[in-house]
Amino acid sequence: KVKKRVRKMELRELGRTGLKLSCVGFGASPLGNVFGSVSEEQANASVRLAFQSGINFFDTSPYYGGTLSEKVLGKALKALNVPRSEYIVATKCGRYGDGFDFSAERVTRSIEESLERLQLDYVDILQCHDIEFGSLDQIVNETIPALQKLKEAGKTRFIGITGLPLGIFTYVLDRVPPGTLDVILSYCHHSINDSTLEDIVPYLKSKGVGIISASPLAMGLLTEAGPPEWHPASSDLKAACRASATYCQENGKNISKLALQYSLLNKEITSVLVGMKSVEQVEENVAATRELAASGIDKEALSEVGAILKPVKNQSWPSGIQQS
Ligand code: NAD
Repeated sequence: KVKKRVRKMELRELGRTGLKLSCVGFGASPLGNVFGSVSEEQANASVRLAFQSGINFFDTSPYYGGTLSEKVLGKALKALNVPRSEYIVATKCGRYGDGFDFSAERVTRSIEESLERLQLDYVDILQCHDIEFGSLDQIVNETIPALQKLKEAGKTRFIGITGLPLGIFTYVLDRVPPGTLDVILSYCHHSINDSTLEDIVPYLKSKGVGIISASPLAMGLLTEAGPPEWHPASSDLKAACRASATYCQENGKNISKLALQYSLLNKEITSVLVGMKSVEQVEENVAATRELAASGIDKEALSEVGAILKPVKNQSWPSGIQQS
């Protein structure tokens, strides 16, 4: 069997980790059926095409589809039959189908379970998942020290935190010794409708942490098909996003392509994680990335969509518990 050549995609360095991530990363939450059901064949084919297109970064969590995403991703990566060093895997801990538990005991057990489901000996990045739902002081004093031990034990190469409100990142980074955290993962704050992540990029850089930004399509808001039922955006935000998708459709443009390209413009952000569940979506997102590199973004469409989204610009939604 002739091995298909892996095409090149732009790589960007992740903070001080030395990891070089493809500028587009494969978000595996859809493999847990959170955006509609995905067959195992479709999942395998999507992961394979992504890898062959130069995507080397895959993100999952035990939370996605109640552990299903990790299992499906693990199988698909194994089926690639390439050396482990050729792909970068991130998973998470602390958030599960039945709730949150950021205790040292739980996260230490969690990585073992994740490694078994992923069929791996180690992950590249282990992140505390959606920390605004836990006590941030517990994250600082208990969870992160537990993750550091897992790093020393070789279960993960690097550690990080994820969540929605940007204040969680500064809260934690202000309280841990320099160099403790390797990476942060922010979502829904670096897309056409909300670019607030950019405000804290200089701070994050000063702390030496790598920056990953997820959900460039705002978890489906910036797609022709629209968001899933559970999407937490306000009706105003949903309507404005729908209007921008319609504008694009009526003018022979594609809202998802524009949204992904926009999120790739800031090179301080190492990798943009897009959720993908089909070969067609991988093809489209890879093509959008190549087109951006070759000919830049469609400035007219960006300015029209920007105008439609202006009334809801930077509008977010509540997430997590009130911190004392
Ligand atoms: P997203 O903005 O990437 O949107 C995904 C949706 O868009 C899915 O329905 C997908 O099928 C669809 N889609 C993808 N490509 C498309 C295309 N070309 N055309 C039309 N539709 C397309 O949101 P997401 O999946 O929530 O985020 C991406 C990834 O980032 C997740 O899978 C996950 O790995 C990660 N993430 C992590 C956190 C966290 O840690 N707290 C939060 C959100 C996302």
